[in-house]
Amino acid sequence: MSQSQAVNPFEVAQSQLDRLAKALGLPPEVTAVLREPTRLYEVNFPVRMDDGSIRVFQGWRVQYNDARGPCKGGIRFHPDETIHTVKALSAWMTWKCAVMDLPLGGGKGGVKVDPATLSQSEKERLCRAWIRQLWKNLGPRTDAPAPDVGTNAQMMVWMMDEYSHLAGAYTPGVITGKPVGAGGSLGRASATGFGVIVTVRETLKVLGINPGGATASVQGFGNVGQYSAKFFKDLLGGKVLCVSCWDRHDRKAYAYSKEDGIDVDFLQTITDAYGTIDKEQAQAAGYHVEDGDAWIDKDVSVLIPAALENAITSESARRIRPSVKVLAEAANGPTVPEAEPVLAEKGIYVIPDFLCNAGGVTCSYFEQVQNDMNFYWSEPEVQQKLDQKMTTAFYAVHEMAHEKEVDTRLAAYMVAVQRVVDAMRMRGWI
Ligand code: NAD
Repeated sequence: MSQSQAVNPFEVAQSQLDRLAKALGLPPEVTAVLREPTRLYEVNFPVRMDDGSIRVFQGWRVQYNDARGPCKGGIRFHPDETIHTVKALSAWMTWKCAVMDLPLGGGKGGVKVDPATLSQSEKERLCRAWIRQLWKNLGPRTDAPAPDVGTNAQMMVWMMDEYSHLAGAYTPGVITGKPVGAGGSLGRASATGFGVIVTVRETLKVLGINPGGATASVQGFGNVGQYSAKFFKDLLGGKVLCVSCWDRHDRKAYAYSKEDGIDVDFLQTITDAYGTIDKEQAQAAGYHVEDGDAWIDKDVSVLIPAALENAITSESARRIRPSVKVLAEAANGPTVPEAEPVLAEKGIYVIPDFLCNAGGVTCSYFEQVQNDMNFYWSEPEVQQKLDQKMTTAFYAVHEMAHEKEVDTRLAAYMVAVQRVVDAMRMRGWI
């Protein structure tokens, strides 16, 4: 099913908000402000192709709510992009920045395009044209985009360069996710995985589990999966017993395990840029290879889905072993709503996605701060600040869940929405 035919994601975001408004007892006029984006731009613009022809692209930028600070959120290049997806994602960015207590609002952008169909120079012209349409509405104090699905660090630099030309001043803070050396921050590549493991560490602490004796199984071995596995060992002293990935050549997923713990550094040397582990080399090194979904029924203390949305269904949740105490949602939306009661029945502590994987956006915020100062931190400094932010956010959610006797996902939304409402109230908007 294409994205445009599927459930309207913005209606999902609005119904989530309605439930939250009820839980927080928000007055209807406050809910009405939060149910719609503050500003929404739609652009249609021409780009010259390499063969001399002109193609017209449609794009959007949505600034959902900037009560807490400049909007922040990625730009997606996707053939099925719609305004509904961009609006929904901009709402979710607002809650994600707020739960992390970043002084930022939420935004999102998109262009309806399959970037794989464009040459490098066509991509560059598309990026620069998108900025020419929207630059007056962007800026470090207004709205600073970042990479997302279909966009990358190179595209962010082209966009930053075009903006700087138009603004007449070098303005690196207009966009984050830039490469180191062109305004990027050290520690960005590992930030999401690092943040995941900080939240796991604190969860183990509140559950009274010794992190050094903890074990994990990870779904996905891309950016987030690799760094989550690495920090599970390096930061906690725990052991990862299994990782899984999609095999691009066989077109199916496999799980790779070792009873005494996988060697992340070794597996990285036999993993390609798309997160596919070389099966033959893993087998030769003594790894046990099983079907991809075997990652979920391992006897471990922590499960880390770090691949796709909807990976944990009510059926797969039933297979989770009694040894599992924590589900760290490193991916976006890995748990379908029907699986939540099964997890609750099993007494599993869920670290909700928009808290668990917020290390990336937090490091993007650090990038903006460094750009603003024109002074750059070392990687240990970035990690120390990230650790502090993730830990504080974790306890805000954990305490809200206790105080209101709600699950951690609802608690995270309550913390976030309440902060946005407080900012709007203090600024005299409501
Ligand atoms: P990636 O493309 O680098 O890696 C994805 C991994 O998942 C690959 O190893 C792939 O083989 C694997 N995979 C795909 N299908 C699978 C399957 N059926 N079974 C097992 N493995 C499978 O992506 P990423 O950047 O690591 O992102 C992973 C998730 O984390 C996504 O949901 C993404 O939205 C979310 N996320 C990423 C970041 C970030 O900074 N990269 C930040 C926040 C959230």
